[in-house]
Amino acid sequence: MEITKIVLKSGKDQSLLRFHPWVFSGAIKKIYGNINDGDTVKVYDNKDNFLGIGHYQIGSIAVRILSFTDQEINAEFWENQIIKAIEFRKKLGFFDNKNNNVFRLVHAEGDMLPGLIIDYYNGNVVMQLHSVGMYKNIETIVETLKKVLGDDLKSIYNKSDKTLPHKAKININNGYLYKESKNNIITEYGYKFKIDWIDGQKTGFFIDQRENRKLLEKYSKNKNVLNVFGYTGGFSVYALGGGAKLVHSVDSSAKAIDITNENVNLNFKDTTNHKAFAVDAFEFLKNIDDKYDVIILDPPAFAKHHKVLHKALQGYKKINTRAFEQIKKGGILFTFSCSQVVSKENFRNTVFTAAAISKRNVKILHQLHQPVDHPINIYHPESEYLKGLVLYVE
Ligand code: SAH
Repeated sequence: MEITKIVLKSGKDQSLLRFHPWVFSGAIKKIYGNINDGDTVKVYDNKDNFLGIGHYQIGSIAVRILSFTDQEINAEFWENQIIKAIEFRKKLGFFDNKNNNVFRLVHAEGDMLPGLIIDYYNGNVVMQLHSVGMYKNIETIVETLKKVLGDDLKSIYNKSDKTLPHKAKININNGYLYKESKNNIITEYGYKFKIDWIDGQKTGFFIDQRENRKLLEKYSKNKNVLNVFGYTGGFSVYALGGGAKLVHSVDSSAKAIDITNENVNLNFKDTTNHKAFAVDAFEFLKNIDDKYDVIILDPPAFAKHHKVLHKALQGYKKINTRAFEQIKKGGILFTFSCSQVVSKENFRNTVFTAAAISKRNVKILHQLHQPVDHPINIYHPESEYLKGLVLYVE
């Protein structure tokens, strides 16, 4: 089949020449022939030089590049790319680790597989497709996972009904694509967590906070800890494990609070040091006085696209100001943003502003981001989506 050709406007080839894997719709000069969402296309500069091959999709990001060399995108290509992603995790020691059996197996652009997220929960694989191109190749991806993971693979669950672009009008139901599994208790740094990949948020767990939760453990001994936007209570479990005197978890979702209590109970049966509140974080933070030595703020992505960036930054400013104003003297604030459109600088400036409003002296102890199983593609700064600061508040 003839592959559709896309030619870019003069000067619009620069980002691709620097291996950034996105072509924005405004950069396109001409599309030759018929084109459909999810088609594989070849991209050329204005002088007919090949730039890359990738998936086309109607929208602001028109092409997601799969390869910067002129090659066929066939079953062999998918197999090679997925093997590369798995070998990378093997090299880093993620397989056969009794202390930890949950990690990200494929991280989209970070693994040069834009549009594909695969998380690994002790042999259960949960997949989220973000592009029509990936959706069209779902069978090949499943076959490759079966072949490459072999006996380690317990199930493959597809959870893409909300991640595929709704404009594409794909009728997709979530469900198992290979076997079924109820074996959903995982281990992270020795702690147990129950993962609900069917009804939970994202693929069921925020794996990307693993190392940051581990860091919190170190700062929790004998402390009063407040975990805001707690979801499954990951930070709360580590705080308890680190010897916190008291841990409070806050999430507006009653379901998240139930999961938090369950996870706390899995690790610290009948502990009286933990309490969870199903309330709005903005309300809760109005009046916490100086009860807490350590506060974690890990809100959902306030901004999903650039148009709402300003409003999102206001949200970060508000919650951080409240934390700075009330945290105990000598307290420690863990504050995060997981919005891809909020840059590191934007986030840091916003937290600075919040600190200044509170008039407290603040020292930066750690600057955090996502862990190595969520690799950052050096040519794609957007893949560094998780930003965090650990701050000492005098
Ligand atoms: N810290 C978590 C991940 C947080 S995800 C972890 O380590 O796993 C963000 C969470 O914020 C979600 O669980 C969502 O239910 C919750 N949330 C969203 N808006 C909220 C609000 N206004 N008040 C409280 N919680 C909120």
